[in-house]
Amino acid sequence: MANKKRIETVCVQGGYTPKNGEPRQIPIYQSTTFKYDTSEDMGKLFDLEASGYFYTRLQNPTNDLVAAKLCELEGGTAAMLTSSGQAANFFSIFNVATAGDHVVASSAIYGGTFNLFNVTMRKMGIDFTFVSPDVTEEELNAAFKPNTKALFGETIANPACSVLDIELFAKVAHSHGVPLIIDNTFATPVNCRPIEWGADIVTHSTTKYIDGHGVSVGGAIIDGGKFDWLAHADKFPGLTTPDDSYHGIVYAEKFGKEGAFITKATAQLMRDFGSIQSPQHAFYINLGLESLHVRMKRHCENAQKVAEFLEKSDKVEWVRYCGLKNDKYYALGQKYLPNGSCGVISFALKGDRKTAETFMKNLKVAAIETHVADARTCCLHPANATHRQLTDAQLEAAGIPPTLIRYSCGIENAEDLIADIADALNKI
Ligand SMILES: *Cc1c(COP(=O)(O)O)cnc(C)c1O
Repeated sequence: MANKKRIETVCVQGGYTPKNGEPRQIPIYQSTTFKYDTSEDMGKLFDLEASGYFYTRLQNPTNDLVAAKLCELEGGTAAMLTSSGQAANFFSIFNVATAGDHVVASSAIYGGTFNLFNVTMRKMGIDFTFVSPDVTEEELNAAFKPNTKALFGETIANPACSVLDIELFAKVAHSHGVPLIIDNTFATPVNCRPIEWGADIVTHSTTKYIDGHGVSVGGAIIDGGKFDWLAHADKFPGLTTPDDSYHGIVYAEKFGKEGAFITKATAQLMRDFGSIQSPQHAFYINLGLESLHVRMKRHCENAQKVAEFLEKSDKVEWVRYCGLKNDKYYALGQKYLPNGSCGVISFALKGDRKTAETFMKNLKVAAIETHVADARTCCLHPANATHRQLTDAQLEAAGIPPTLIRYSCGIENAEDLIADIADALNKI
């Protein structure tokens, strides 16, 4: 497209173009319900014969404007907001897999997602096989079964900071006739657009960089619109056979490759689970999007400087940041994230659990939080927080040494962050 706007312009202006005399900023439609002149008009909405709004549990115009911006940013064809990143990842899988089905997922994923898949969705009868993000093509192929319905991974894993080979994962998923679903939370569409590399569905926890200010929990799902559900009709009956709750609509036929996935997720999953974003929060998310491209640049610059400082310290055992030339994921980072990755670094201190506790206690600029990917620098000692119940041996087995620190660089001055870290390192 000759007039396709660049990412910075879409961050600011995407999704909403006011007409003559309309509000410049997106309006907050703070209304649970919408009024119609006739029951027949409303009936058409219930039959999915016309598009429109009737109840905010399914759709709200403010949310749709923000979803449209995210859709444009990711290069998709349809998108929806959800109440959280957890809801987005749950919907993205449950929209194509049901009891008796199987999903292959990278093991390097957010802990909350791992638990959702490995515990809660297993209880729903969906089986998961977890593979290393570094698998070979053969190993990845071997994880698939006849009932596999999706492949899932994170562009940059939280908190492992590994980078996924999206092209390889897409190739293998497609050779088995299933979509690749990518959680793009850490990279954001500013630094990577997984659909351009072959991913079919992209999810986000908008709670992180997209909001960016620690004010609203949210999620999003974007469909790339390329996966041909009808070509694999036997695998995806939910999309390719009649839905009795909407008078026998076949989503893949009525809404095509471009719209079937999001329409089904809205009409069935949002209707039944109700994990809707509030229009007020959608508005905050849009404010975050307006400066996302500016903030991501600074997050990455700060993280690069902090990572280089940590790498040189004799108190640090190792640093994981794909912007470092010695990092295991440097080459993949250069391929998929040439303009920068994110602000999150993980590193291990020399010493033991106590060493890490002392270090954390002496940080003054970085705050101890479970949050990441925020304008304010924050950090977490997993052995004393998210993974507190594990023994040192179990921590090592999980790839989380007792001295591992997850450090999320904000957009403050890098020299201040480094001085703060240097002070805390001197106290151990
Ligand atoms: C935080 C996070 C989630 C979960 O999102 P919530 O908005 O907290 O529900 C999912 N994926 C990744 C990569 C995350 O960092």
